Amino acid sequence: MTKSVYDVAVIGGGPVGGYTASIIAKTGCSVLLLEEHETIGEPVQCAGVITPRVFEMVDFASSSIINRLRGAHIFSPQGQQLTVDAGETRAVVIDRAEFDTKIINHAQSNGAELMCGSKATGISRDANGWNIMVKEKEKEITVAAKLLIGADGSGSRVRGWLGLPEPEIMLNGFNATVDGLDMDDEYVHLFVGENVAPNFFAWMIPAGAGTRVGLCTRDAQEPVYRYFKRLFDKGPTKDMLLGARVISESSGRIPLGLLNRTYAEGALLVGDAAAQVKATSGGGIYMGLACAQHCARTAIEALEKDDLSKRMLASYQTRWMNHIGDELKHDMIIHKIFASMTDKQLGEAFELLDNEEILEMINRVGDIDYPSKLGWALLKKEPRFLKYAGKFLKYRLGGK
Ligand SMILES: Cc1cc2nc3c(=O)[nH]c(=O)nc-3n(C[C@H](O)[C@H](O)[C@H](O)COP(=O)(O)OP(=O)(O)OC[C@H]3O[C@@H](n4cnc5c(N)ncnc54)[C@H](O)[C@@H]3O)c2cc1C
Repeated sequence: MTKSVYDVAVIGGGPVGGYTASIIAKTGCSVLLLEEHETIGEPVQCAGVITPRVFEMVDFASSSIINRLRGAHIFSPQGQQLTVDAGETRAVVIDRAEFDTKIINHAQSNGAELMCGSKATGISRDANGWNIMVKEKEKEITVAAKLLIGADGSGSRVRGWLGLPEPEIMLNGFNATVDGLDMDDEYVHLFVGENVAPNFFAWMIPAGAGTRVGLCTRDAQEPVYRYFKRLFDKGPTKDMLLGARVISESSGRIPLGLLNRTYAEGALLVGDAAAQVKATSGGGIYMGLACAQHCARTAIEALEKDDLSKRMLASYQTRWMNHIGDELKHDMIIHKIFASMTDKQLGEAFELLDNEEILEMINRVGDIDYPSKLGWALLKKEPRFLKYAGKFLKYRLGGK
């Protein structure tokens, strides 16, 4: 540690904290990045599917791409299979540990100071800004910073310390890497149904040397791990997973639901800490990095003006909401409609989707970063979907 008071302390050395630190440090501000784990990127708690669009922001991390995807085989609860195929790369699979490492290295090369194995355990505020208590192995130290940025993931403690709102929903996720499977490496397999992945979906993702197998659940009767084990014993996944050997496993939570305040006096929240995640897929990397740009810009302007007041920092909320707020709202509506459907209704919806013109439209319009575009297009093309979207109109009018 070289500074007595940093301009900015970023808590959380994930991709979003790293990217935020990188942009701010580039302007010459002093930035301290605190990460509780000893090694950046570990443990991996992610399936690692993102769009090539992400690399428009972090081109320096593109060596982390290990596979390219053009489509998906999607299975209904009854076992009906639909195939969507864009005919070109629509998503990529990354080595998440390498992705995070590249971003953090970039932040360091821009001048950010990294402290690994350093867990923030509490904060207090005085006239000069923040004092952050940090536990490093057996040692307790305090670091000082003018501005605090919470990028500490789904279970953000910074969010609680600042008294900011909690996400409406937490998904439970589980992901494993398996070997011994011979999968077509251009397609993911997705599975829906109450017995497979309640209120969300399960996946099999070809990832270079191995396959990522996992799922998320919400409001499920049993722990997510039980549903994971069941993928090997029941349903359409059983035969596909014959001969699979689990190499590594991890679990994690995914926060959903717009936070109406992600700033406080002298502080900002970003990434999973701010629940900047698509409720349709649980993907948070693209949205988090997009918000990191708004967070960094707001921080830089506030430091330049020497005004870190809540009023000044409120512009961050406006910026990221203007950029992705509508998309996140619509994704949540789609998620709620999907989660309200019974297995029978999902089966009926698959029958409607199994139509050449509709599949062609999905291939053309589908975009995993902006899924609501497809939602609207489907409703227009096939009005019978309105039956399931009944509540949609209510949500649009502000209902729960
Ligand atoms: C099972 C699963 C699968 C997923 N699959 C995808 C996917 O395919 N595509 C996608 O886009 N997204 C996916 N996600 C979501 C994605 O992982 C997150 O959106 C992304 O990691 C958010 O980045 P972040 O930097 O905000 O938070 P994180 O990556 O969670 O980073 C937060 C960092 O803060 C550190 N930290 C926490 N508390 C402290 C503290 N007190 N002091 C110091 N450091 C601290 C943590 O150790 C961590 O390194 C998945 C999530 C799960 C759980």
